[in-house]
Amino acid sequence: MKKISVIGAGTMGTGIAQLAATHGCSVNLIDSAPDALHHSKSNLHSVLNRLIAKVKISEADSKNILSKINWSIDMEDIAHSELVIEAVIENMEVKQKIFSQIESLVSKDCIITTNTSSLSVSGIASVCATRSRVLGIHFFNPVPLMKLVEVIPTEQTNITFIDDVISTLKSWKKTVVTAKDTPGFIVNRIARPYYGEALRIYEEGIADFVTIDWAMKKFGGFRMGPFELMDYIGNDVNYNATEAIFIGSNYNPRYKPSPTQKRMVDNRLLGRKSGKGYYDYSHDAVIPAPQKDEESGKQIFNRILAMLINEAADALNLSIASRDDIDTAMTTGVNYPKGLLKWADEIGVKSVDNQLKKLHSNSDDDRYKSSPLLIKMGEENTTFYA
Ligand code: NAD
Repeated sequence: MKKISVIGAGTMGTGIAQLAATHGCSVNLIDSAPDALHHSKSNLHSVLNRLIAKVKISEADSKNILSKINWSIDMEDIAHSELVIEAVIENMEVKQKIFSQIESLVSKDCIITTNTSSLSVSGIASVCATRSRVLGIHFFNPVPLMKLVEVIPTEQTNITFIDDVISTLKSWKKTVVTAKDTPGFIVNRIARPYYGEALRIYEEGIADFVTIDWAMKKFGGFRMGPFELMDYIGNDVNYNATEAIFIGSNYNPRYKPSPTQKRMVDNRLLGRKSGKGYYDYSHDAVIPAPQKDEESGKQIFNRILAMLINEAADALNLSIASRDDIDTAMTTGVNYPKGLLKWADEIGVKSVDNQLKKLHSNSDDDRYKSSPLLIKMGEENTTFYA
């Protein structure tokens, strides 16, 4: 597919347009706000100039990319598209309205997709007359740099359209995984305990933020600790993602939002972007030292890892994605040092299940219930990989 339209010229839309144009596609980048179009254009100029300075692309490449993008306020420009990618604000009514509009403008063969992170793709598609051509394409930020893309077909999506989208994304050099249309898809769902269990450990007074971050980096090899990562993502964005998955999963206790994080949001302690979150980002700030106790550090790491593995196993149990796609998504989308199912095999599935059973009996909290798949595999002494 070479004729692409992107609706919404914000952070994601601009990144998607850059990616498609870099791979030779012509792109209409549409936004209802003239200011947003202006920002998008000047941001992309700066990004390309930085790439020229780093000798990653030539001046000619940059000119070529820019010449392929038509920044426009006029939705009618999308009429001849083969693929439309919607990337407007995360709001169901707004997205549904745009989907109806898109469908009234494009030909019947055009594939219509959404970059939603937390809304139901089927819910967005429900306003369309031809739902077989609707699916989700979930990119990660920054789009040109992040290799992973989650493709989310609905029950109604035609297999040919799924294949067309996957081969287009592969031609854009992306690593593609396929997920069921469920809250958080693969990465955002399975990553929940990295934040939620770290917050719970803090709330139980077991350790402070810095010590939990230290433990995950030291014993798990994670690049960033949970609190550093929440500050980086933004506590508001992270809280909203958890809340959306909690609601979308019919209030599954595993995704219950943390009162600590809610307080951080209410106090506008959003993280790096507000200058302060769990850490202070002012230039003269003193970073507190972790309590480097090996034994309790390992316990913290084992507890969070057991919860992550349970989440990955449950996603497999619910056929949200394949074993390989689950492990690829977490190592590529959030840079986990190892695939969680592979990690489970190394530790032993039975021992992960035992750890969860202990947490469950100590707390009587259903968030620690093992996935039926973990229980079964523990009893049968089997592994995820042969
Ligand atoms: P953003 O706020 O940067 O951009 C949204 C753009 O949509 C704005 O420029 C706005 O003017 C435009 N818009 C709003 N209503 C419109 C309409 N009716 N017609 C045309 N344009 C309209 O948002 P973003 O961060 O780029 O996110 C866009 C989508 O991608 C959201 O669904 C978000 O959940 C998803 N997403 C975001 C990230 C991320 O890290 N930012 C990652 C993956 C997916």
